[in-house]
Amino acid sequence: MILDAHMHLGEDIIFNTDDSEEALLAYMSEHGIDAALLQTGILPNDPKKANQRLYDLTKKYPGKFFGAAVLSPYTERSEYESFMHWAVKDLGFKALKLQGFAYCAAPASPQARKIFDTARALNVPVIIHTGNGVPTALPSMAIPIAKEFPDLKIVLAHAGGGMYGCEALIAAQTCENIYLETSWCSVLDLKSYVETIGCSRLMFGTDVPLNAGVELAKYRALKLTDDQYEQCFWKTARDVYGL
Ligand SMILES: [Zn+2]
Repeated sequence: MILDAHMHLGEDIIFNTDDSEEALLAYMSEHGIDAALLQTGILPNDPKKANQRLYDLTKKYPGKFFGAAVLSPYTERSEYESFMHWAVKDLGFKALKLQGFAYCAAPASPQARKIFDTARALNVPVIIHTGNGVPTALPSMAIPIAKEFPDLKIVLAHAGGGMYGCEALIAAQTCENIYLETSWCSVLDLKSYVETIGCSRLMFGTDVPLNAGVELAKYRALKLTDDQYEQCFWKTARDVYGL
């Protein structure tokens, strides 16, 4: 069983991708990926429509697709809260995402704070983009907010994205409520995460269909035990997101 904890559906104007429902089903079947946690593309023109499109896929394939909601942190607080209430309570989404890179908002900034308050009220984890987009996307930027919200599960998407992999490790070592989703991190980083924080705080993710084979090869290169693979490939995401 493999669960991809990081995939996008639809147009992404930052990374110039536009993966359709058919493209998602095709990469999953090609790589033996059973389920995926979806987000919209970055900076969608119409966030409501883009999140609704995720929902439509989760509804069509129950247990195969799940949603994580994204909205600009610059949205006025009450509007942000009601949007996320709709996403979690009506659409059944499993997490809120801070795309600090696209919106230039650090986790502890006044704009982003509403994401953590809202996630706590709705009892869902927050996914924070890390890697490209410094300084807002530095993994260390998540440490103060993770300490302030110790009851909230925080997932560092891309685990520092290669360049800041060692910082992601320090963040996870510093805060027990920080988990790492490992798309784009190096194989050496991945090895050090397995050996230090352990598989119960690591989750497999791909980010784009084209990257799925690379991410699988990275894990397979480490020759982990069956239990370790099961933990990274689906159990951590299941437990963190309550899937
Ligand atoms: Zn992504």
